[in-house]
Amino acid sequence: MSARILDGAAVAAAIRERVAGLVRELAARGVSPRLEVILVGDDPASRSYVASKGKACQQVGIRSATHALPATASPAELSALIRRLNGDPDVDGILLQMPLPKPLDGRTFLDLIDPSKDVDGLHPLNVGLLHQGRPSFVPCTPAGVIELLEANAVPLAGCRAVVLGRSEIVGKPMAALLLARHATVTLCHTRTRDLAAVCREADLLVAAAGRAALVTAEHVKRGAVVIDVGVNRVDDAALVARLYPGDSERAAQLAKRGYTLVGDVDFNAVREVAAAITPVPGGIGPLTIAGLLQNTATAAGRRRGA
Ligand code: NAP
Repeated sequence: MSARILDGAAVAAAIRERVAGLVRELAARGVSPRLEVILVGDDPASRSYVASKGKACQQVGIRSATHALPATASPAELSALIRRLNGDPDVDGILLQMPLPKPLDGRTFLDLIDPSKDVDGLHPLNVGLLHQGRPSFVPCTPAGVIELLEANAVPLAGCRAVVLGRSEIVGKPMAALLLARHATVTLCHTRTRDLAAVCREADLLVAAAGRAALVTAEHVKRGAVVIDVGVNRVDDAALVARLYPGDSERAAQLAKRGYTLVGDVDFNAVREVAAAITPVPGGIGPLTIAGLLQNTATAAGRRRGA
């Protein structure tokens, strides 16, 4: 069996289309949504995510700007910027790109963001509402996973769902969203005993561990749906050759860029066992950005009473 590929890019395009329509409706009422992104330091992956977010905003008509602070920025500087954006009535969404360079503590600064502008859904108020089953702003990646599952009519009520990873940004909100849809949810992490056996119980396995190809065929029940959230830069040519034998496109990418993006799932091995699977890239990544656009348009509509 070779699994059906769940096309995140197609679902993301539909969401972007929906958001563009929403932005046009807002414009007709004199509202022009605006997102401000804060980037601290010069992590190349963060820089590239921020650039993609800005471009995506532009494509749907959302105004956006990036505030780049040096890695040496002081806590006072970052707090002052967040407070200024909180107080600016023309700003609808504030996104603080994670991770922050040490010693800045992400949680401290996420707590400062006005919950009504918290388009990443990471302020404690929005986290609490989600876990109470009253979602307001939901973190974009798990929200995107749900959109993809629903667009593909994957049954969630009563299913055994295993989420690999317990981060605030992916694992925990993913579990809350699945629970709200009546899945029986297990969260796994580095202390989980016999990870493969726990994962094998899943009808739906969501991998968000940040470990290249951690999930092998041994972790997957035949016929399961496997969602790969992981995005890992792999520069080990031997590993790339093992994971993608004969894939000249991957080899060329590795040679050109010095790395290739690999998910948390050994795609070629797992696709022989699973019923459906997301690829990396082209799976969850585009949905995350689409979710951010949706949250920003929603924030603008709510804040400006439009
Ligand atoms: P994170 O904060 O590092 O959390 C990783 C989680 O996985 C932790 O809970 C950790 O357990 C668990 N874990 C790590 N190694 C494990 C292992 N060997 N066995 C079992 N559990 C393990 O990462 P994150 O921010 O959630 O991101 C996860 C992945 O998703 C990364 O690759 C990231 O780049 C990707 N991501 C992609 C998108 C997208 O748009 N596609 C968006 C966000 C994140 P402990 O809690 O015990 O340490």
